[in-house]
Amino acid sequence: MGTSFRIRGVVIDTRPHKDQDAIITILTPQHGLLSATVPGARKHSSRLASMATPPIVADMVLSDSKGFYYLKEGEAVESFRGLYDSFEALTCASHILEVVKDTAVDPDSSQLLYPLLLYVLYDLSKHPKKYRQIVAAFEWRVMDALGFAFDLNECDCGKPDEMPTRAFSFSRCRLYCANIGCVAKAKEYRFISIGCVEALRYIREAPLERLSAFRAEKYVLDDLCAVTHQYLCERLEKNYDKLSLLDTLPPQ
Ligand SMILES: [Zn+2]
Repeated sequence: MGTSFRIRGVVIDTRPHKDQDAIITILTPQHGLLSATVPGARKHSSRLASMATPPIVADMVLSDSKGFYYLKEGEAVESFRGLYDSFEALTCASHILEVVKDTAVDPDSSQLLYPLLLYVLYDLSKHPKKYRQIVAAFEWRVMDALGFAFDLNECDCGKPDEMPTRAFSFSRCRLYCANIGCVAKAKEYRFISIGCVEALRYIREAPLERLSAFRAEKYVLDDLCAVTHQYLCERLEKNYDKLSLLDTLPPQ
């Protein structure tokens, strides 16, 4: 066996491997994403099975054998139990994990995404009913972390109209007012309420532990979820569709 080392990380993905094993993906602040085989993870008797049940934060000992990592020991630090009481929160968590897996591609992005992911998962497991706010806040902050920041300044025409709406331009990555000339510049856009603009500004500036601590009327939240999700999908050029499962649920 090769050398062993100890890490703390969050397991964000798992897939079956051979008959009994699993390969997990671990996000760490220092090493970015690591893949490791969990021997026997799919046996009922396995003491390591919980390590192959994302999301989980754990202290782990990995051994390095010819460039492949094997999990030798794992101890849970946080397993986000509250997620399992809510189909909505669990669905949001799987969406969030997918985004992180796609975007934590280098040490810089991993360092930024690690604390964001932990706070958001913790928030979801504690406050599953706030899942729409939490997932929108995550999507918006991820865009900032990855360098896709949107310009939330007022329309640059100098005399924005008094309407309580702004055009959120996906093609220009900035806001325009509803004046005809301004909207024409917005190209591909969606009108959002001023309340939504305020929520977007709040999320950008909020400390992580207060990320979802804003009040929003339903129509504001509808705007917010629509634009953060579309903005994320367009910038990352991928149709993240796990959340569409929630559209099939009866309204609460
Ligand atoms: Zn304008």
